Amino acid sequence: MLNKKRLIENFLKLLSINSPSKNERQIADHLIKYLHSLGLEVNEDQAGESIGGNCGNLYFKIPATNPKFAPIAFFAHLDTVKATVGINAKITDNWIKTDGTTILGADDKAGLAIILELVHQLREQSVDHGGIEIIFTVAEESGLEGAKHFDIKMLEAKLGFVLDSGDNVGSFVVKAPAEYDTTIEVYGKSAHAGVEPEKGLNAIFLAAEGLVALPRGRIDEETTFNIGIISGGESTNIVPDFVRLQGELRSLNEQKADSWIKEIKSIFETKIQQLGGKSQLKYNKIYSSFDISQNKNFKKIISLAAQKIGVCPRGVSRGGGSDANILNEKGLPTTNLGLGMKEEHTYKEKIAINDLVKGGELVLAIVQSLAKLTDE
Ligand SMILES: [Zn+2]
Repeated sequence: MLNKKRLIENFLKLLSINSPSKNERQIADHLIKYLHSLGLEVNEDQAGESIGGNCGNLYFKIPATNPKFAPIAFFAHLDTVKATVGINAKITDNWIKTDGTTILGADDKAGLAIILELVHQLREQSVDHGGIEIIFTVAEESGLEGAKHFDIKMLEAKLGFVLDSGDNVGSFVVKAPAEYDTTIEVYGKSAHAGVEPEKGLNAIFLAAEGLVALPRGRIDEETTFNIGIISGGESTNIVPDFVRLQGELRSLNEQKADSWIKEIKSIFETKIQQLGGKSQLKYNKIYSSFDISQNKNFKKIISLAAQKIGVCPRGVSRGGGSDANILNEKGLPTTNLGLGMKEEHTYKEKIAINDLVKGGELVLAIVQSLAKLTDE
């Protein structure tokens, strides 16, 4: 049985500490001190310096009680998507939420609090387990930067579990898309809009014509494309000669992503050329996709654990990226576990106490289920 009171207290304490991306020092120091008091040594890497933050990734290990069992790793991120200065988190009925003036930060402090409770449980109960490595990453929300700078060669874990999905407890992510930044630059010709507009070529109208020709939204069952920012022009009396369109493309299938980018580039550039202008599409891969749906270990362990605590195990495909994308890319098979946060990244963010507790029970049950996995 978990210590529900301690879990909630730790969660509320973590919520009270402001920790936006690259400013995780304070919450890290709190956690280091807390873990120290439990007799654990915590290491910090150099990620903070590399990315311009004030804190690195934290790493600590709970030694195996039975080295026969497979070593695993749990991950949660220290940062929140926005600052939470002045946060007023409260419990109303079964929900933990704020007064609506800040985000809650359950993404991902629910993950951190659950791991602290796991550490306590493993001290208080006798559980047969292999080595358990815990990593608290920085700057997840600003582009998975902490995970990108984390050296996984130092890990002995054979399986990774990120605690950071808003799906129901029992759900685990088996597929997630790759993401590409796309930037389209459109060049026209400037002129005085009232005196000699004939000499100009309006880049905003060019961009509009190009955009109309493009596919958008869910462009096939595995791929999405969006233009999210448009900028250009200086003054209403100048025919603008430049517009920039920024967007993103995501796909579960990287071959499809490649061919869609080529197609979008060709459609757009051809259209602009026909109209006498010039344009250029540039793209940049932010992270890779992953597909661990054929990995039997996750299915087996999470099914056993879910059964034990009475929730439904479900492998899901997800549209967002997480540290799991980077860890899989680096060679550690990793899933992302549902913790039941709702409306993350908004001021309505909330989490049910029952889900927080179930999430904690699931993680403990995963550690206990590893014994059965190794027996076979
Ligand atoms: Zn998160």
